[in-house]
Amino acid sequence: MATECIFCKIVAGTIPCHKVAETDAEIAFLDIMPVTRGHVLVVPKRHVECVTDAPPETMANMMRLATRIAHAARAGLRCDGMNILVNSGAVAGQLVPHVHLHVIPRYEDDGVRIPWPHGSLDKSVAPELVSALRAHL
Ligand code: AMP
Ligand code: ZN
Repeated sequence: MATECIFCKIVAGTIPCHKVAETDAEIAFLDIMPVTRGHVLVVPKRHVECVTDAPPETMANMMRLATRIAHAARAGLRCDGMNILVNSGAVAGQLVPHVHLHVIPRYEDDGVRIPWPHGSLDKSVAPELVSALRAHL
């Protein structure tokens, strides 16, 4: 537990939350500033800051619970789709430095737009990118 971490405090029960689900290793609760109706955060109980600090099993288990919540959002909230995402690192918009997965139900008329500027893959640098990644897998 990181003493100043807001999500560690939620896990410890010293800050309240609207709990949706809990397993041995994760807790899921409503986001206090929801992007859409039913926005849920999936949080590992053990403090790790970001994706690259977390063991792959931690991320996989979070995704397992997020998928259960996705099914519940379809059935229980009648959402039309969802965004499931992790902001990892301040540069990626992570505000709370305890890794978490957002499950954001989407509705046909929700008006949410995620600005996502698409580039175009430069095929001359693609082999270099693939090599740089494959060297560390
Ligand atoms: P991120 O930018 O990915 O770090 O997202 C952090 C999220 O945590 C934001 O969507 C906040 O609304 C949410 N949040 C911060 N404090 C709380 C809290 N006490 N209870 C529930 N959600 C929170
Ligand atoms: Zn924490």
